[in-house]
Amino acid sequence: MTQNENIFFSSIEETLSKYIQDKGSDFILISHPTIFDIYKEKILKIFQEQNKRLEYVLFEEGEKNKTRQTKEIIEDTLLEKGVQKDACLIALGGGVVLDMAGYVAATYLRGINSIYIPTTLLAMCDAAIGGKCGVNTKFGKNQIGTFNKCDAIFVDMSFLKTLEEREMKNGLVEMIKHFLLRDKDLFFKFLEDENPMDNLLLFLKKSIAIKQEIILEDRFDKNLRKVLNFGHSIAHALESIYGFNISHGQAVAIGIIAEAILSHHMGYLTLSSLNIITDVFSKYLPQRKIPISKEEILFFLQRDKKNRERNIHFILLEEIGKVKCHEKYVSHPIDNRDIIVSLSKLEEAISCLSVQ
Ligand code: ADP
Ligand code: ZN
Repeated sequence: MTQNENIFFSSIEETLSKYIQDKGSDFILISHPTIFDIYKEKILKIFQEQNKRLEYVLFEEGEKNKTRQTKEIIEDTLLEKGVQKDACLIALGGGVVLDMAGYVAATYLRGINSIYIPTTLLAMCDAAIGGKCGVNTKFGKNQIGTFNKCDAIFVDMSFLKTLEEREMKNGLVEMIKHFLLRDKDLFFKFLEDENPMDNLLLFLKKSIAIKQEIILEDRFDKNLRKVLNFGHSIAHALESIYGFNISHGQAVAIGIIAEAILSHHMGYLTLSSLNIITDVFSKYLPQRKIPISKEEILFFLQRDKKNRERNIHFILLEEIGKVKCHEKYVSHPIDNRDIIVSLSKLEEAISCLSVQ
């Protein structure tokens, strides 16, 4: 697995139609009822016009349904339908659908073909890229899973027309995060663009390319790939505390500001860069006040997947566009005291938090 995914960027009427033309196999669409309702006709028409048979398996949307139980139900449905090894699974939806369908595709009959059609900006620039797939357990997110190499990804911007603003913001946060990690010029180009939404496809392509570049260097998440987790140590702690009452984008926006503060506090990121980052991500914060307790945050940080040798590890920025590396490692052990100080500074920097 040393190659990037095959991504098509035009409308699926063009790209998917062409793609399925010479594929003789059965197609099984995996999605959730909300998205399937909106796009049923669009999808069915493509398959009808190509005289291809399409079946579908739906499951309820949301992280709470990304479970081993759902996987079992989908697999049993496929087995019951007699779906064979030469079939192709099509994942249509956001991250949950892609993670679930990808995991099914990776293990059903020891692996069958799959294609992804992400319908959210977040899934386009994040979940669809890099092959990670899996399910949640009662012990945490994405704890059981594997890597699935899908055959093609169809990024069709027209899906975003029906997407709510809150969902768009979720995607924008991760998109800008990629620029922040690897490309200073692009980061400022995005900032200085008077109407970046007019150039969304261009920025999205760049953002995807950055994620792909990082993954190519570390396909199995041994070290470098962990940089993609910047902002997510704090974000995951907030999501664990607030459950579904904070969106991923909001949690990551807070997390990025917090971890940029920590990067500055540890002597790396300059104050002027920190202020720019705080400004940019403040646009994506929750509107209401949310209380956080330092102890609770520390409790969840202690379970972070990046931790080693019983220390809490963070990804730190050296400057905008560059992650701080120490010898060969990209994550750094941080003392509880430094985390606590940074959380207090976070409260001063953004108005939506009250830290206890
Ligand atoms: P995730 O799995 O990443 O949370 P979902 O597929 O659940 O993403 O999408 C998030 C929310 O946006 C859900 O309420 C879903 O129904 C809705 N949604 C997803 N894609 C679209 C779209 N293209 N148009 C309208 N709503 C969408
Ligand atoms: Zn994320």
